[in-house]
Amino acid sequence: MLYVVSACLAGVSCRFDGGHTPREQVIELVRQGLALPVCPEQLGGLPTPRPPCEIREGQVVTIDGEDVTEAFERGVVEGVRLAVMAGCTEAILKARSPSCGCGHIYDGTFSGRLVPGDGVFAKALRAAGISVRPDDSL
Ligand code: SF4
Repeated sequence: MLYVVSACLAGVSCRFDGGHTPREQVIELVRQGLALPVCPEQLGGLPTPRPPCEIREGQVVTIDGEDVTEAFERGVVEGVRLAVMAGCTEAILKARSPSCGCGHIYDGTFSGRLVPGDGVFAKALRAAGISVRPDDSL
């Protein structure tokens, strides 16, 4: 089985704040050749670091109110294309991210409140037949 994983979980410094959130189980999967690390936001051409983003009324917006939906969607297309090309069937994704969150994401008010839902990448992976789960379920 091949996993697609959020690149930040594999130790890549691709988070909006320039940091990473490594998880040993994910790094081990990559070491064994069982996981493909992908950061859809970087694939969409967004810079690192970048302003924090959340999903509000179906659009992805920065904390300053800029609509960055198009860049997020570009990254989703590229990320899904890579995952499908590599034959990934499962995903382990960073919880709560507007791209990678699965099951729960922030509500778009930048106040730390969670609502049920998926990030744009998680949603597209599910639609492509890849089952997703958040890293906090590991
Ligand atoms: Fe990590 Fe996904 Fe955010 Fe990239 S888009 S930094 S992989 S949570």
